[in-house]
Amino acid sequence: MPQQSHISPPSWQKGLDAARAAPRCHARCKHAGRRCRNAAMRGRKVCRFHGGKAGAPRGERNGAYKHGRYTIAAQIAKREAMRRFRDEMREFRALLRELDEK
Ligand SMILES: [Zn+2]
Repeated sequence: MPQQSHISPPSWQKGLDAARAAPRCHARCKHAGRRCRNAAMRGRKVCRFHGGKAGAPRGERNGAYKHGRYTIAAQIAKREAMRRFRDEMREFRALLRELDEK
């Protein structure tokens, strides 16, 4: 049996381990119907071949950003606030109806 215990791993071992641990591309292959399984781009679900580089940067990193009024987070917050408002109005109208009946 060869003695390998005091041979240190090659310098690229850490990089290779990191590449293997990277999240995989979720795109489905056109011709074989299987998952692509390339390494996904950082912060994305797909690899560079499947649109990992596509799109503009989000939020303040986008060149057209001014005040954040129309960011995805702001739109979600607005939608949530409107939903709460509608729920309260529904309760309020129900109370008014109850008063009318008395
Ligand atoms: Zn891919």
